[in-house]
Amino acid sequence: MSVKVLPLWINGQHTKSRSTRVADIFNPATGEVIRQVPLASTADVERAIAAAKAAFPGWRDTTPLRRSRILSKFKELLETHRAELAQLASEEHGKTLEDAAGSVQRGIEVVEFAIGAPHLLKGEHAENVGRGVDCHSLLQPVGVCAGITPFNFPAMVPMWMFPVSIACGNTFILKPSEKVPSCSLRMGELLKEAGLPDGVFNVVPGDKLAVDTLLAHPDVRAISFVGSTPIAKYIYETAAHHGKRVQALGGAKNHAIVMPDAELDFTADAIMGAAYGSAGERCMAISTVVAVGGVADVIVAKLKQRAEKLVVGPGNKKGVDMGPVISSAHRDKIVGYIDSGVAQGANLVTDGRGVKVAGHEKGFFVGPTLFDKVTTEMTIYTEEIFGPVLIVLRVKTLDEAITMVNNNPYANGTAIFTSSGAVARRFENEIEVGMVGINVPVPVPMAFFSFGGWKSSLFGDLHMHGMEGVYFYTRTKAITTRWPEVAERSSSTLNMPTLG
Ligand code: NAD
Repeated sequence: MSVKVLPLWINGQHTKSRSTRVADIFNPATGEVIRQVPLASTADVERAIAAAKAAFPGWRDTTPLRRSRILSKFKELLETHRAELAQLASEEHGKTLEDAAGSVQRGIEVVEFAIGAPHLLKGEHAENVGRGVDCHSLLQPVGVCAGITPFNFPAMVPMWMFPVSIACGNTFILKPSEKVPSCSLRMGELLKEAGLPDGVFNVVPGDKLAVDTLLAHPDVRAISFVGSTPIAKYIYETAAHHGKRVQALGGAKNHAIVMPDAELDFTADAIMGAAYGSAGERCMAISTVVAVGGVADVIVAKLKQRAEKLVVGPGNKKGVDMGPVISSAHRDKIVGYIDSGVAQGANLVTDGRGVKVAGHEKGFFVGPTLFDKVTTEMTIYTEEIFGPVLIVLRVKTLDEAITMVNNNPYANGTAIFTSSGAVARRFENEIEVGMVGINVPVPVPMAFFSFGGWKSSLFGDLHMHGMEGVYFYTRTKAITTRWPEVAERSSSTLNMPTLG
C-alpha cells in the first residue's frame, strides 16, 4: 500500500523533508493508514528556524495595521474553508464534523482578536512623571517563536498561539502533533494566500527530536506548548534552562460539582456534552462529577439514561454523537483504566468496553462509560484518562467538594451546578482552578479573555490568547524622556535620580 507523504511548510512553500523517518496517520474510524507525515530532522527544523529568523526584521517593521489586514484576509479564508478544515480535523482525529467545525470557529475567534493588533500593541504613556519628564512604554516582538501542539484540537490549539504571535510582529514555527498535521499545513497555505510574507509562519511536523531542536536553539526566543502534564513540565524546564520564555499547558481532571438545588435535567444534559463530546478527548472535558448531599442517585440515573442513548460511530456520519478515540493504543489504555476501576471496586454503571460499530470493525471505538461510587484513591480518579469515561464521587457537603477539587493536582477547569447565588459566589472565590463555570459545563474563555489552568495544568506564568497572550509574545520597553531647557542642562549628581 502506498500513501501520500506530507511535506513540511518552510519559507512559504511545501518543502520535502530530509528526514528518513515517517509516522503513519490513521483514520481512527476505520483504523486505516490514510497518509504519512515526515518526522522532521534537526536539519529540517534548523531550516525553518533560519527562514523565520530571516523573515523577522521585515515582519517586525511591518506596521501593526498591515499585519492586521493580512490576518483579516486570513480570517475570511478560514471562514471560506471552515468545512474543509473541519473535515481534515475529523478525518485525522475522529471527532464529529459538527464538533470539529465548532472548534475551528473557536480558533477563528482568536484570529478576530489578533486583528485588533494596532490597538492591542499600544503601550502606556504618562506625562510629567517628574518635572519636565515623560514616560512611555512599548510592546515589542520577541523574535522567532515556536508552538508545540497536541492531537486533540488540530486547528484550534495552533490558533491559540500563532495569530497572536504573528500579530505582535514575531515569526513562528509550528510543530503540530504528528497524529494530526494536515490542518496546520493547510493553514500555512491559507496564510500565504492572505499575503503573509514567506518565512513568517512555518510548519515542521515531527516528534521529540524536532521539539528538542526548538527547545535548545538559541534563535528561538519563546515556546508555547499544549499537551500532557509530564511533557509540559519537561518543555518548561528545558526551554527555561535554555533562557527562553515558556508557557506550557498540561493535562486536566475537571470536576463538576452538582448541588442538591441544581436543575437536574439541565445539569445532566450539560454534563453529557462535556463528558462525552469529542470522546472525552478535550482538556476541558468534565471527567469527574462530585455529587453533593442526596443528589447522587438521581443524577447518576439521569446520566446513565442519557449515556446509553448516545450514538457511537464515524465522525462524518449524520446522527453520530461520539466518534472513535485517536489510536488503538489509546483505546487499549482507556479500556485498561475501565478494568482498573472495576478491579478497585467502583460501581460500573455503563460499560463502553467492546462496543462494535457495524462496518467499522477496525475503528478505535470505546463507548460511553459511567462509574459511580468512585473514591479519591482509585486510579480512575488519580489519573487523566482522556477518553469517554465519566466517574461520580459522592460527598456530603460543599466544603468537602471544594476540598476535593483543591487537593487535586490538576487545575484546568471546573464547574458547579446550583441555583444558589451564594453557593456559586463562594465556589468562584475559593476554588483553586484557572477556568470556572457556574452552570456552564465547559467554561472555555472567549478569545478576548485568556485560556489557561493553574497548578499541574500550566507551567509558566501567562495564559494563551487575550491580553496575556499579547504580553507573552512581546517584551515591554519603558522610555523616560526629558527635553531640558538650556538653563537646566548644567546640574550633575552621582545620587540615585528621583523625579518629582
Ligand atoms: P502529548 O503531551 O503526548 O503531546 C503534545 C505534543 O508534545 C505533541 O506535539 C507531541 O509530538 C510532543 N511530544 C510528545 N512526547 C514528547 C517528548 N517526549 N518530548 C518532546 N515532545 C513530545 O499530548 P497529546 O497526547 O498530543 O494530547 C493530549 C494531552 O494534551 C492531554 O493530557 C490533554 O489534557 C492535554 N491538553 C491540554 C490542553 C490545555 O489547554 N491545558 C489542551 C489540549 C490538550
